[in-house]
Amino acid sequence: MLSSPFYPAGRDTWISSPSVIAHIDMDAFYASVEILDFPELKDKPVVVGGSSNRGVVSAASYRAREFGVRSAMPVFQARILCPDIVIRPGRMKRYLEVSRAVIACLQSFSPLVEQISIDEAYVDLGGTGALFGTPENTVLAIKDKILKTTGLTCSVGLSTSKLVAKIASDMNKPAGITIIPPSRVRAFLDGLPVGKIPGIGRKNEEALNRIGIKTLSDIRKLSLRFLEERFGKFGSRLRDISRGEYYSPVVPYSQPKSVSNEVTLDRDTDSPEVLGGVLLDLTEKVGRRLRKHGFRGRTVTLKLKDSDHRQITRSVTLDRSTQQGKRIYEEAMKLLAGCSLKVKKRLIGVGVSNLEPAARAGQISLFEDKIREEEKWDRVDRAVDDIVDRFGSGALKRGRLRRE
Ligand SMILES: [Mg+2]
Repeated sequence: MLSSPFYPAGRDTWISSPSVIAHIDMDAFYASVEILDFPELKDKPVVVGGSSNRGVVSAASYRAREFGVRSAMPVFQARILCPDIVIRPGRMKRYLEVSRAVIACLQSFSPLVEQISIDEAYVDLGGTGALFGTPENTVLAIKDKILKTTGLTCSVGLSTSKLVAKIASDMNKPAGITIIPPSRVRAFLDGLPVGKIPGIGRKNEEALNRIGIKTLSDIRKLSLRFLEERFGKFGSRLRDISRGEYYSPVVPYSQPKSVSNEVTLDRDTDSPEVLGGVLLDLTEKVGRRLRKHGFRGRTVTLKLKDSDHRQITRSVTLDRSTQQGKRIYEEAMKLLAGCSLKVKKRLIGVGVSNLEPAARAGQISLFEDKIREEEKWDRVDRAVDDIVDRFGSGALKRGRLRRE
């Protein structure tokens, strides 16, 4: 079915590999969905993004890219590069619907599907041979099924690890399949600039370039000791990556329905201050878990149990989803203010439901109006997450007043 200039396709090709992973990446996802739903946009330069000049491009169609328009670019700049550009506001609900259809397609090929963003996922094809033939044929079938089901094209990388599959899927966009079989992994990596390594960051890239390390083959020549001294923990990972020996498992992940935390109080209380204090702690934890797992939620629920074990819940659904402790806290406090405290409470909890995958930075700008204020808090939250990860949750508590 598939001819490759490199090697004869077949199962034997993959026998030496500890894993067989495909990375699926939808092409210009938001823009492609717009063109799918509004065929009159076909062949037009289309971007999805904020409509005011302060907005940012979330996705650009391939026609728009011919003018140099890129995602994360300010809309005004896109207009200068391409005066005829069509700017569409985002329709997140629709994109999520299509995203779910894509994931369902993937799950029909393997139970091991890990969604990493709204339009990207890894599929572990290690165990699927008997059903679908060779990995090469399987990725062809996957691409075909996605096209038939959704009307959209994707690009696919197929290789021995998540890392190589992801780099590969980017090489022949749009609608390309790039296969790096085990025997080619080393050669493929050798020529790659270090900046292509996911997670390496600008600073590391520059630091490496400064000492003459430009490609992965250069990294392979360095000693582990040198790499560890220079990059700490990341050093040994760099070495494994450069040898094509960095493997991380595909973790099938199904979206949780809600994220919640509750606590039974040391002593029953009717004090709004005490309950508010506990709530601050709980909402921080819930926000942190949402961020950690990459979700935002729209519905905030407060749960209270009386000392006589009667339980009440109160919910509010927000205009826009959030993953911020501060925002969840504000809503939970409003719900608390609406509850009678005549009977003392023995348990308090807070949950966030109505979840959706958190968009990547460039995509958040679909909702540009409140974005600046929110980004500020996102940064604060991320800084707190870092500290908590390193030193434990006792290390840092934000003052209640400073949060106002
Ligand atoms: Mg994509």
